[in-house]
Amino acid sequence: MDWLNVRNQRRTVANIQSCALLAVCLWGVGAVAYDGGAEAQAEIGVLPVQGNVYMLVGADGNVTIQVGEEGVLIVDTLREELSDRLLATIRELSDGPIRYLISTHAHADNTGGNATIAQAGSNIAGGNVLGAIADAGETAKIIAHENVLISMSAAETPLPFAAWPTDTYFTDRKEVFFNGEAVQVLHQPAAHTDGDSIVFFRRSDVISTGDIFLTTHYPYIDRDNGGTYQGIIDALNRIIDLTVPADRQEGGTMVIPGQGRLCDEADVVEYRDMLTIIRDRIRYLLGQGASLREVLDARPTLDYDGRYGADSGSWTTVQFITAIYEEMS
Ligand SMILES: [Zn+2]
Repeated sequence: MDWLNVRNQRRTVANIQSCALLAVCLWGVGAVAYDGGAEAQAEIGVLPVQGNVYMLVGADGNVTIQVGEEGVLIVDTLREELSDRLLATIRELSDGPIRYLISTHAHADNTGGNATIAQAGSNIAGGNVLGAIADAGETAKIIAHENVLISMSAAETPLPFAAWPTDTYFTDRKEVFFNGEAVQVLHQPAAHTDGDSIVFFRRSDVISTGDIFLTTHYPYIDRDNGGTYQGIIDALNRIIDLTVPADRQEGGTMVIPGQGRLCDEADVVEYRDMLTIIRDRIRYLLGQGASLREVLDARPTLDYDGRYGADSGSWTTVQFITAIYEEMS
């Protein structure tokens, strides 16, 4: 293959993420396991992004929060066992009411803190609603695509009822105006799962992507929950449509990935290009009649494996290639 002889000319900057993350990739809707020191695993860093938006950085995932006069809005809540630490970190930034949680998808490492955080919050309800529904107003709203609710409620070991979305949408978007800012929750069909949302903070000019976009490894295609590789590429293109870079293609709209470092449009373009190139290599091999074994032997991800690949853990390079092969066959 010509492309295997050509060394990748794309940037090969050192991966600044902790490689420990690769061993910690936790995606299942059910139980999770991880290694590393408990204290290190529980650390949550705080990074101001721009406008009203902050990125909270956990060992294996990111949380986005927007704070302002009306209170706090949170996108994703890490694993259940980090709930108290996450709540304490949020409270360092704001003691305002927690009004909204948005779950970008159903996985337990993104929704584990929903119950604790929602119960620490409250939403705005009044008049007849308060009379008719006893606990209306007593917890924060949990917004998600309806497939998240279906997936969470059908899980073998579901998270508690209090973690489930309370405000689902089934159209292509849901919109909230909060803290003086339009917040758009945009469904990305059949991508990482069948219930992915990206969250666009229009005034702050920040997009929170969930696990559609990562800087730490190849994207996980949760085919059991309706995920597809092409859907991930489509969702990345949607993010690129929404982002506007500033001078010299740097900065501008900032992008918070599901895992890894803070990014801008150029980072998403690089990732989208990589996934497109890998797709086209596998498509070419399929067109030549290659078997799965032959595709794996051709190593269609070779030039990216140093940065994104994994030989062990819950999402190896072999699993990644196999999933694409099966989707395209
Ligand atoms: Zn996920």
